[in-house]
Amino acid sequence: MGKFKPSVNQARCIGSGDCTETAPAVFQLDENGKSEVIDPDGAGDETIMAAARGCPVKAITVVNAETGAQLFPAAKR
Ligand code: SF4
Repeated sequence: MGKFKPSVNQARCIGSGDCTETAPAVFQLDENGKSEVIDPDGAGDETIMAAARGCPVKAITVVNAETGAQLFPAAKR
């Protein structure tokens, strides 16, 4: 079980389906065509990060479930 926990900002999501293709056990398009997290443990940490990086509108946030630290997008300095 991974410790990276993803979440989707549905207001940003454009329903491109990239994340559901990268990690279909984690993300699924809902009835409105927006991605939602169906199982945060449905893929390993690397795959979850790849899905977040691959989102064209940066709608996916990833935090470390143990520390709460935001891993993606990287915090602005
Ligand atoms: S990759 Fe981003 S825009 Fe595309 S469905 Fe997933 S969250 Fe939405």
